[in-house]
Amino acid sequence: MQKAILVLNAGSSSIKFSVFRQNGGSELELDSKGQIEGIGVRPRFSAKSASGEKLIEEEWEKKESGGHGRAFANLAAWLKGHYQDQVELAAVGHRVLHGGQEYAKPIRVDAKVMEKLRSFISLGPLHQPNNLAGIDAAMEETPEIPQIACFDTAFHRGREPVTDRFALPRKYEDLGVLRYGFHGLSYEYIARAIGEQAPHLADKRVVVAHLGNGSSMCALKNGRSYDTTMGFTALDGLCMGTRTGAIDAGVLLWLLQDQGMDAKQIETLLYKESGLLGISGGLSSDMRDLLESDDPKAADAVEFFVYRIVKELGALTAAMGGLDALVFTAGIGENSAEIRKRVVERASAFGFKLDAAANANGRGCITTESSTPEVWVIPTNEELMIAQHAANIVGL
Ligand code: AMP
Repeated sequence: MQKAILVLNAGSSSIKFSVFRQNGGSELELDSKGQIEGIGVRPRFSAKSASGEKLIEEEWEKKESGGHGRAFANLAAWLKGHYQDQVELAAVGHRVLHGGQEYAKPIRVDAKVMEKLRSFISLGPLHQPNNLAGIDAAMEETPEIPQIACFDTAFHRGREPVTDRFALPRKYEDLGVLRYGFHGLSYEYIARAIGEQAPHLADKRVVVAHLGNGSSMCALKNGRSYDTTMGFTALDGLCMGTRTGAIDAGVLLWLLQDQGMDAKQIETLLYKESGLLGISGGLSSDMRDLLESDDPKAADAVEFFVYRIVKELGALTAAMGGLDALVFTAGIGENSAEIRKRVVERASAFGFKLDAAANANGRGCITTESSTPEVWVIPTNEELMIAQHAANIVGL
């Protein structure tokens, strides 16, 4: 029987999954992927083969769904029916936002690890509880299968202390108030992909711009994280779909003291009502909508998004001592030639020479041969990274 790894990314109302099968050798190949959306409201289940062929698409009655537990049980039943006896699950790999200071590598989860991971919920209120609900559901339904947690923070551990630190009294550092950084599974994948697709850049200075619904940038030096724009939580750094990114802490004091807002209201404001959505006057958090709109506030949102990227590019370049390449990835980075063009044009101090046709094509190197630094587009694959980590841990 062929071995496979199931990868789960559990959100508040969705569980995204991918099944990676071991091919003839030791390589893992995507076999199917899909999602359960609308958990707890109006759950819909869909799955496709690796080639995009529809395998299933159906709505479930609300009562059938319950929460993540019921959703995962339904998924497990579908997997069993779909794969029959052809595939044996060797592990379930979970995307987990926060591994704190403890976890610099993926780890097999047991009750003790879960307890520790729950203590990081306040550090990632938007993602961590849902990630853990996914693990709880999988542990309950398939207790015999190893559950592997892969952290978005792990790739950034081990940086120079100066890049990790806040200028707070030391006791807070001792309590774990540090700049952890996120999107680490994406950056780890990109660092490896650079080694394969652009080996001349593997030991150089590269800034990766992961631009999606959540956005951040990472300075890679010799293939390792040197610094990154997200910090203690996934709120810091760039402007995002609905998150502020970096904001003067004085604004939070003003909201608390002068506007009478409480912590919960501020959390909602910072995570869910701000960013592109906030600046566009509530129009949309989706970059496609904003680029298509002729509302001046939509244009303001796009301009701010681009401006912040350029500013952070300058900061990361200076911190790392130079720049050999900029890499775009994730939903916006991979798909929007317009945003890439605007970033490159606004960052004119770097002297990038964009190749318009290559940018429109949107894969590989998108600058001309004489351009230093270079600009690349490399699609990320966090799911494959998780599958590989899980496979390594169970010795597949
Ligand atoms: P992600 O979180 O990586 O899935 O990225 C989601 C973001 O990518 C959303 O803001 C989408 O609007 C954006 N996106 C996807 N395709 C395009 C596109 N062709 N042009 C602009 N933005 C896009």
